[in-house]
Amino acid sequence: MNILIIGSGGRESAFAYKLSQSKRLQNLFIAPGNAGTGVYGQNVALKVTDFDGIASFALANDINMVLVGPEEPLVKGIHDYFLNREDLKHIPVIGPQQEGAQLEGSKDFSKQFMDRHGIPTAASRSFDKSNLEEGLAYLETQKLPIVLKADGLAAGKGVLICETLEDAKLELNAMIADSKFGAASDVVVVEEFLKGIELSVFVLTDGHSYKVLPSAKDYKRIGEGDTGLNTGGMGSISPVPFADEAFISKVEERIIKPTVEGLKKDHIPYKGFIFIGLMNVEGEPLVIEYNVRMGDPETESVLPRIESDLIDLLEGVAQGNLDTRSYTVSSKTAVTVMLVAGGYPGNYESGKVISNIENVKESIVFHAGTATQDGHVVSSGGRVIAVTTLQDTLFDALQQATADAGRIYFEGKYFRRDIGFDLI
Ligand code: ATP
Repeated sequence: MNILIIGSGGRESAFAYKLSQSKRLQNLFIAPGNAGTGVYGQNVALKVTDFDGIASFALANDINMVLVGPEEPLVKGIHDYFLNREDLKHIPVIGPQQEGAQLEGSKDFSKQFMDRHGIPTAASRSFDKSNLEEGLAYLETQKLPIVLKADGLAAGKGVLICETLEDAKLELNAMIADSKFGAASDVVVVEEFLKGIELSVFVLTDGHSYKVLPSAKDYKRIGEGDTGLNTGGMGSISPVPFADEAFISKVEERIIKPTVEGLKKDHIPYKGFIFIGLMNVEGEPLVIEYNVRMGDPETESVLPRIESDLIDLLEGVAQGNLDTRSYTVSSKTAVTVMLVAGGYPGNYESGKVISNIENVKESIVFHAGTATQDGHVVSSGGRVIAVTTLQDTLFDALQQATADAGRIYFEGKYFRRDIGFDLI
């Protein structure tokens, strides 16, 4: 099978790594990929939203499947683009169509979806210009802290947790009246604050049946002890020790089944991954958000634990017979540690030469923000490299991943040495 992966981060590196293990793979292409994905396949210099370019490439290279990594092309309708073109519609796209992608693209849409299908989530109300005054009055009736969420995509920055009523009112006004997040905050979801531990559960679905993929926990803050600014993710672990069988079966019954059924009832076709961001509130799972793709850096921990052939599973999604595909997961623990550029998540420098990758023997090195320059691998993003290790115990995995993260060098390199230690 010839497969084209869309994207360029650590997540796409992990997909490329996993797909390249399949005996069924003939040719793998990654658009645009990074300095590491070239080991698994061939990089193609195309932007993830260049649908015309992607289509021409797919036709010229006899592509049998397109796997979409990031949300942007999904929300912009790459799957619909393929379905709507006579010459392309035979090529399956893994990732939902535009309507299903609204589960991530619009928080208001996803809250309405959850309410409609009885899926447990924080109580909320949505406001826009037409009822801003009502929104400000509503805030006075709510407990603090309170969560304000820009409806649209805001590069992971559109969620504000307000500790005081004054702050909440100022922010609601800034988001709606002053377009703080541009059009993304034309509508704002005001949501009850949930206190608990976060984790992510991933589902692969063909729109009818589904497979529950391994759970994972990511570490969002830049500083050790989960302090400081939010980032795209500094590391992850899988499985999550507190997400035991009893907890996951609650998630399956109360959240996963109603989500897949809800999509069917709403006549929303969905072929792809669903990332369910959860809060564990005293043992009860509540949905914080849906994403319509895999998470990064969770994918780097989740995929190495899947023992089954990923091509077989993705083919099941494309053909609508996922329930017939075999699926097994390793009982080992995966830990991913992200190496980031100095200064990240603020201003950071790129173009730093990366060395000593070959010294890592016991872990998998997934390139994230890397490029090739004058024959050297250099940094080209804030999150540069993800180091993942798979070991029998959580403790061994933590130690190995941290040690291997230390072996790679580039100027300004930073990583958290405490990923997962809170769970021991
Ligand atoms: P990302 O894309 O980075 O996952 P996002 O912008 O889509 O984030 P959410 O995931 O909905 O937004 O929220 C971001 C973070 O805010 C969550 O990971 C969680 O830590 C916190 N958060 C969101 N909703 C709530 C809530 N109701 N109660 C407590 N914390 C919340």
